[in-house]
This record gives sequence, structure tokens and C-alpha cells, in this order.
Amino acid sequence: MSFVVAIDGPAGSGKGTITKIIAKNMGLVCVDTGAMYRSITLYMIRNNISLDDKEKIKVMLDNINIEFEKVQDQDIVLLDGENVTKEIREKAVNDLVSQVSHVIEIRENVTDLLRKIADGKKIIMEGRDIGTNVFPNADVKIYLDATPEERAKRRLKQNQEKGIDIPFEEILSNIIFRDNNDKTSKVAPLKQAEDAILVDSTNMTIPEVVEKIEMIIKDKMSQEV
Ligand code: C5P
Repeated sequence: MSFVVAIDGPAGSGKGTITKIIAKNMGLVCVDTGAMYRSITLYMIRNNISLDDKEKIKVMLDNINIEFEKVQDQDIVLLDGENVTKEIREKAVNDLVSQVSHVIEIRENVTDLLRKIADGKKIIMEGRDIGTNVFPNADVKIYLDATPEERAKRRLKQNQEKGIDIPFEEILSNIIFRDNNDKTSKVAPLKQAEDAILVDSTNMTIPEVVEKIEMIIKDKMSQEV
């Protein structure tokens, strides 16, 4: 039987970090759904596929292969067998990914794929519309938020650790741009599900956020036994 934990929230809210730690601590399969949209975006940039070219988008979706692997404790993303973990965080992808994720055919394809990945597993999935759209019946729904400035600070640090050099102002304006794009999207906009629990992490440390969410998950798991 599946057990689904949905972690939604805006860019830089800490979803990625928190989700990976909880997955490891609790033995859940971890899925970064943003990395899927990012990989598709990279493919479109490389192959010069425009957002309104429905024909080429269909062919791409029929053929593209995105996989997640763990290599020496690092999560890597493979696009048609190539390690693109770093490329999918670069500026060209950042600037386009939000628009790519709003193409209805792409969204439907990714949603189907995510439902298949979860089938029969205990998973924790992070994204924008997991609790509202992909798994409206998720066992646990968390909406993780923080102020835009705090989120930009975190992204800057994360990028520096990965050797990616993007100035703070650019990160902040990209976050505000993407928030706006994601929240006003006609297709599955970013919003807190009615039954999601809000966790505002602005003034919380990572271990504090992890502890709070793990308690919510454990509580739910004990009710379902
Ligand atoms: O989480 P991350 O910042 O990597 O996501 C990149 C972009 O992918 C987001 O800005 C959003 O536009 C899109 N996305 C989405 N739905 C998801 C995950 C990501 O629309 N479930």
C-alpha cells in the first residue's frame, strides 16, 4: 500500500533539503519533482524546442528519459543517461523552467509519471502541486514557506556549495518572478491545499523543521497501522 507525504512550497523554502533528510531518517523514497521540469527545460533549450511547438513537445515527451540515482550518497539526475545534476540548476534553466512547467501537455505527462513512481511505495515528494493536484489524497500534506529574502539567502549558500556563481540580487529577483508565475498559473497554481499543514521556516533551523514534520508523519503513520 502507498503512503504519500507531499511537501509543497515556493522556491528556496527548504523543501529539497528537508525532504532528503526526512527520506533518509524514515526510509521513504524521495522524489524531487522540480528536477523533472528542470530536465525537460534543459532538453528543450538544447534541442531548440519552443514553448508553443506542440508537435515537437509531443515527440520529446514520448522519447525523453529522466532517472534519479544515488551515487556515493549524492542524488543525481540523468537525462537520457547523461548526468545533468549541475546543468539543471543553471541560469538558462532557472529563467525558463516556470514557463515550461505551465505547458499543459508537459504538466500532464509529469503528473502521470509521478503517480506511477509512487505506486505501492512509501514516498516523500516535493514540488508545487503535489498535495493539491498530483496526490489530492496524500496521507500527509505540508506547505513549507519562508520570506523571499530568506529563501534567496538559502539558495545563494546552496549554489556556492555546488560551485554555481549567481549574485544574490539575481537569485532574489528570480525567486520573486517564479513565485509570481507559479502562484498565478492557470494550470495547477502554487497554493496551500486546504488540508495542508503550514510550516513557516523563516526563523527555524533545518533540524527544527525536520523534527516538526517527522512528528506529523509519525503521528499519521501510527493512526494508519
Ligand atoms: O523546486 P524547483 O525550484 O527546482 O522547481 C523548478 C520549477 O519547476 C518551479 O519554479 C515550478 O515552476 C516548477 N515546478 C512545478 N511543479 C512542481 C515542481 C516544480 O511547476 N511540482
